[in-house]
Amino acid sequence: MSTDGIRTVEVALGARRYPVWIGRGLLGDAARWRARLRGRHALVVSNTTVAPLYLERVAQGLEGLHWSSFLLEDGEAHKSFANVGRVLEALAALGATRDACVIALGGGVVGDLAGFAAACWMRGVDFVQMPTTLLAMVDSSVGGKTGVNLPAGKNLAGAFHQPRAVVADIDTLATLPDREYRAGLAEVIKGAAIGDEDFFAWLEANADALAARADAPLAEAIARKVRYKAGVVARDETEQGERALLNLGHTFGHALETAGRYTTLLHGEAVAIGMLLAARLSERLGMGPAADTARLRRLLVRLGLPTGVPAGSDPQHLLDRMRLDKKNTAGALRLILWRGIGRAEIVAGVPEPAVLATLEEACR
Ligand code: NAD
Ligand code: MG
Repeated sequence: MSTDGIRTVEVALGARRYPVWIGRGLLGDAARWRARLRGRHALVVSNTTVAPLYLERVAQGLEGLHWSSFLLEDGEAHKSFANVGRVLEALAALGATRDACVIALGGGVVGDLAGFAAACWMRGVDFVQMPTTLLAMVDSSVGGKTGVNLPAGKNLAGAFHQPRAVVADIDTLATLPDREYRAGLAEVIKGAAIGDEDFFAWLEANADALAARADAPLAEAIARKVRYKAGVVARDETEQGERALLNLGHTFGHALETAGRYTTLLHGEAVAIGMLLAARLSERLGMGPAADTARLRRLLVRLGLPTGVPAGSDPQHLLDRMRLDKKNTAGALRLILWRGIGRAEIVAGVPEPAVLATLEEACR
């Protein structure tokens, strides 16, 4: 940490490397982030919830540039191709050139869509992520996956396009609803569960402080998760191997999300339940110790996350949905399982009866 309390994590991608700054007051600290803008044009993409709260802080830093803003309606439904088109039109109206910068101010919905629009405008211009949800700070703003939903499914259209910087201003979390905050914590826990047992132990030791959003532990938790993800991304930018580990809990989780038509569970909540199901399945297959499943469950509970599948869930129906996952090869399930905390593995050819038995047990 530097003397001003700002933590910096580098995403080491050679010529495309970039900093993730984490701390208080960063949106107003234009002296830091404006240097990442190369040209004279900027378009701020945000939404109707976040802009009234935080756009002004960013606007002050844009003085003297040709800039405008484009606001999405709030919600996952607006992460659409049609809105990418509207953002591109806003760039055209601004007269944006090749050295323009798109600034994404908001949660993962805004970041994914704005990043994708930046990837498209003149075949790719700079963008800067200014994440305002915990999930976006620790997950979606880092790593360069951008995209939108299609009627056929979530995140089906997209591009790898790395940001020029990530400005994670922790002050913005003050207005984030509790449930969204806890959903973000699930993605923090996930990083520790996959590959960092020391971090997991640290989360256990600091669970109460994190649940209470205490400043210093929160900044530390964000920085540690970002450092972990940045390492994975630097080693496997386009998910040829290791990056798939970041999907721990996600195949189970996506099945739960789609079964609930995305209305009953937030993504992070589905991931929390999904990680626990992955741990239980690992146990059933003789891979992971029961004691570690119990530790994961306790930590999720302490951080206010759900651990049980929604009432009325149907095991066979969930298994059917898991079969549709992009990661599968024909006839076999490919899942992220673990040998215990911090030791996740990609496992191909997972026997369906074991998956079904795990789901049946959870649905009882
Ligand atoms: P979100 O963007 O919908 O934000 C959640 C809610 O919080 C919204 O209502 C939003 O308006 C509101 N909000 C945002 N910041 C706020 C603030 N500071 N104060 C008050 N309210 C605020 O959801 P999310 O959880 O941030 O992101 C989910 C999206 O991220 C999904 O579309 C998912 O596919 C995507 N995602 C992408 C990646 C990636 O690698 N690109 C990774 C994980 C998730
Ligand atoms: Mg996720």
